[in-house]
Amino acid sequence: MSDFPKGDLMAGKRGLIMGVANKNSIAWSIAQQLRAQGAELAFTYLNESMERRVRPLAESVDAPLILECDVTQDTQMDGAFATIAEKWGSLDFLVHSIAFTDRTELEGSFVEGTTRQNFKDTMDISAFSFVDAANRASKLMSEGGSMVTLTYLGSERTIPNYNVMGVAKAALEASTRYIARDLGPAGLRVNAISAGPIKTLAAAGISSGRHMFSFNRNASPLRQDTDPKGVAGAALYLLSDLGASCTGEVLHVDAGFHIVGMPDEEAMVD
Ligand code: NAD
Repeated sequence: MSDFPKGDLMAGKRGLIMGVANKNSIAWSIAQQLRAQGAELAFTYLNESMERRVRPLAESVDAPLILECDVTQDTQMDGAFATIAEKWGSLDFLVHSIAFTDRTELEGSFVEGTTRQNFKDTMDISAFSFVDAANRASKLMSEGGSMVTLTYLGSERTIPNYNVMGVAKAALEASTRYIARDLGPAGLRVNAISAGPIKTLAAAGISSGRHMFSFNRNASPLRQDTDPKGVAGAALYLLSDLGASCTGEVLHVDAGFHIVGMPDEEAMVD
């Protein structure tokens, strides 16, 4: 946490972090940045085997609530949000950093290789779960609030092997806009961060990952990998009062890769 700029931008705010798997998770960088700015954090984790890694991390940032919650299980979503309502009574922010697909469908042909069942499961876990969590969280945000989800450029452009996850990210970004529209009148802001490739458990599932990292690094205007701290800083902006007036936005934090139509020739020499 010492690496994250300290301050009091989040002092007095309480929020839920969904999607920490281990210390490399994007949600963990965001959590550390929010804590360094004074936020009080609750965490959810997928299942018992994830708990072993998540609990020590959550305890290291003094989290009072560490709850099991598989987003496909309504009873677990009911339980997690009921506990937050009971212990805290209200929420100020939500971080949704969850995605899943069958990794055998993250390679080769999208049109030939996508099954009905995995299409549905990917949409459910990677897109609908944000709609569901946002709806539940909004009921605890009577004083206003802010929500952030994590997306990727594969929603807007085709990226080799990203396949069905790109389609789910397109649904997630459209959902972000609709949720922002619905909840805006109540003073709730809802945004997405489109992060460049970062080495995490989820990214390890994408075949040709190495090529993806080097291509992004070489072609991006900044000629660097996306820094998780930059993503955490963007989340701090969107979740704190600094982000006032910003809603329904997809903020790219990817070393500028998304603006490049055609990379410079010399940039492509590794
Ligand atoms: P990660 O593997 O650390 O996080 C993914 C999380 O999703 C894990 O904590 C996992 O437990 C959780 N999850 C999966 N299925 C779940 C379920 N049914 N219920 C509850 N939780 C479930 O990887 P990450 O890269 O930090 O991914 C976080 C988010 O960032 C994802 O939405 C991902 O698509 C997005 N993202 C990642 C990158 C990248 O390059 N790593 C880039 C852009 C966006």
